[in-house]
Amino acid sequence: MAGTATDCMSGGNEQAKEAGLKKQMELLYRLQTIDSNIKRSEALQRQFEEEVTRLQSELDGEAEKSSAVRQEVDALAKKHREHETALKILEDQKRKVQEKMMAIKTNKEYAAAQHEISSIEQAIGKKEDEIILIMDAVENAKDVTAAAEEALQAAGRRFDAKKQQAETELRDYLADIEKQRQAREALLQEIKPDMLKTYQQLHKARNGVAVALADKEYCFGCSMKIPPQIYNEVVQGDQLHTCPHCRRILYVERSAADEGQQSA
Ligand SMILES: [Zn+2]
Repeated sequence: MAGTATDCMSGGNEQAKEAGLKKQMELLYRLQTIDSNIKRSEALQRQFEEEVTRLQSELDGEAEKSSAVRQEVDALAKKHREHETALKILEDQKRKVQEKMMAIKTNKEYAAAQHEISSIEQAIGKKEDEIILIMDAVENAKDVTAAAEEALQAAGRRFDAKKQQAETELRDYLADIEKQRQAREALLQEIKPDMLKTYQQLHKARNGVAVALADKEYCFGCSMKIPPQIYNEVVQGDQLHTCPHCRRILYVERSAADEGQQSA
């Protein structure tokens, strides 16, 4: 780090050196902002993919519910048909017994046939009750199916709208990030190689924050107080300083003149 500072200090007149370092610091800080934005864009892209997956599974859930109730309706309708068939068989039985009664000669046979008919009629009554119940159940299930179908369609519309919105937002955002990537390439040409190397090492070692903003004798990289003399030199901007606590490059956004006005 000291080497870097010395490099920047060496050469022509004092003002040019100072301006050179300030400019380099500004470039580094811009580079860091872009690097953070690019990193965030990757996280946002992952979030977008997760959101689409979540919406898709919500939609799948509605489709499953809808399919389950449809199956229930089908099962009830099948049961209804079975009851109707059973009823028809009972009615045939009853008719056959009635036909048989025409040829009956004895009271005993007649009474037996009567008994048979009344037990068939009982079975018919029971079957008819069952049919009424199942028809009600079919009607209810149809309502449930309609509601489930509507929910499915609404979920489908929600899915499409949200996906489209997210895609548009992501596309605009990524287009902006692409512009920033291009600006980054241009920045890299302007930054001195030794400054860039220092930045890259710190960026890696310090969780993506190589350049820490400093203000009012505080380092924002680690929230620790900076010795006043170092801080003042950082504000003057004629020497490269790193934070004595977190080793990040200290950067003050305000100019020394602003600082003078502030303290005045
Ligand atoms: Zn610090």
